[in-house]
Amino acid sequence: MKPYNAETRYQELVTKLKERGHRITSHRLALLRLLAESDEHPNASRLYEKVKVQFPTVSLATIYKTLTVLKEEGDILQVDLQNDSHFDGKKPYPHPHLVCTRCDRIFDADDTEFLGVFSQEIEEKHGFKVSRHQIVFYGVCNDCQNLTV
Ligand SMILES: [Zn+2]
Ligand SMILES: [Zn+2]
Repeated sequence: MKPYNAETRYQELVTKLKERGHRITSHRLALLRLLAESDEHPNASRLYEKVKVQFPTVSLATIYKTLTVLKEEGDILQVDLQNDSHFDGKKPYPHPHLVCTRCDRIFDADDTEFLGVFSQEIEEKHGFKVSRHQIVFYGVCNDCQNLTV
C-alpha cells in the first residue's frame, strides 16, 4: 500500500466534488483540506471551529451540508461514537477504531481481512445483508498508559 498523502487525498476529494457538479467554495475547500489532513476523527462542531479560524463567515449549516454530500457519496466515513458523529476523510471505507477512555482520542486500527470474512459469515448465518459495520475497541492508548507509570 502506498503511504498516505494528504495533498493527493485533498485533490481527489476536490475533483470528485467538482465532477459531481457540486459548488466549490473556499469554505468547502477548507473543510476538504481538514478532512484530508486530520488524524483526529473530528466531529462537525470541531470542523466548524477550525474552518472558522480561516473563514469567520462560514456557517455550521455549510459544514453539515458538505459532510452529508461527502458521506452520501462515500468520500468520508461517519463513525458514531461518544454521542456524536465523527468523520474520517482519510479512509472512507469501514475500518476498526480504537477509542481511549482516558483522553477520548479515536485512533485507526490496521485494516484486517478478518472483517470481510466476519461480515460474510454474518450474511451466511443470518441471511442479513451487511451494508457497513462499525467496530470499536475501547481501552487505554499508549500515551495514557505511559502517563500512569
Ligand atoms: Zn489516551
Ligand atoms: Zn478512522
